[in-house]
Amino acid sequence: MSDRGRRIADNLAGVQARIAEAALRSGRDADAVRLVAVTKYADIAHTQALVAAGCRDLGESRPQQMWKKAAALAHTPVRWHLIGHLQRNKVTRTAPLLAMLHSLDSLRLAAAVDAAAAELRRSIPVLIEINISGDAAKHGFSEEDVEAALMKLAAFRHLEIRGLMTMAALEGGRTRARGDFQRLRSLRDRLRLNCPENVTLDDLSMGMSSDFEEAVEEGATIVRVGSALFSGLE
Ligand SMILES: *Cc1c(COP(=O)(O)O)cnc(C)c1O
Repeated sequence: MSDRGRRIADNLAGVQARIAEAALRSGRDADAVRLVAVTKYADIAHTQALVAAGCRDLGESRPQQMWKKAAALAHTPVRWHLIGHLQRNKVTRTAPLLAMLHSLDSLRLAAAVDAAAAELRRSIPVLIEINISGDAAKHGFSEEDVEAALMKLAAFRHLEIRGLMTMAALEGGRTRARGDFQRLRSLRDRLRLNCPENVTLDDLSMGMSSDFEEAVEEGATIVRVGSALFSGLE
C-alpha cells in the first residue's frame, strides 16, 4: 500500500473509532451510525484509496463532481450521496446515481426528482434539508414551513422520505452545533407525531469533521465527514 493509501486508511479507522465511541456514549451501537465520506476535496486517486480502505458510502456536494467520480469508480460498489444543492436542470443526469439525496430543499425540486425516479421505475431515498441555524446563505426548509411541506412531499410516490438533514451554524463552535443538532432531533420527533403513513423519519444526517461526535451523541444516524479523512496529505 502507498503512504497515501495507508494515511487515508488510518484516518478512516480513526474517524470510525470516534463515531463508535460517541455512539456508545449515547447508548447506541456503533453500527447505528453510517459514515458518508465526503470526497469533494479529494481527487480520483484519493477517492479510490478511500474505497480500497473499505468505505462504501461517498458524498459529493456538486452534481458534476459526482458524475465524474461515479464514472471513474463505476466498477466499485460505491453508494453515492448528494449532500449539496441540486439544480433542477441536473436532476435527470443525477437521479440514476443516487443512493440517497440529502439535500431535498424545495417542493419544485421534489417534483423534478419524483418525475426522474418514475422515469427510471425506481424510488429514491431522500432527506429533507432543514435550515436549522436560519443562515440566509443556506438552503433548506425552515422549521416553521416543514410540517406543511411534509404533507405535500409525502404525495410524491417515487420519493422515500427517510428523515432530515442539516448543517450546524458556521459560528459558535461545538456548543452551538450541539444545540442545532438537538433542535433537528426535536423537530423530527414533533413531525413524527403527525406523519403521513408512507414517510419514515428514522434518519438524521448531521455532523461534519468539526462536530460529528456531538452530532452522534445527539442522535445522528448518518454523519458526513470530509476533511478529517484527508488530513496529513499533500
Ligand atoms: C463539505 C460538506 C461536509 C463535510 O465537511 P468537512 O468539514 O470537510 O467534514 C458535510 N456536509 C456538507 C453538506 C458539506 O457540504
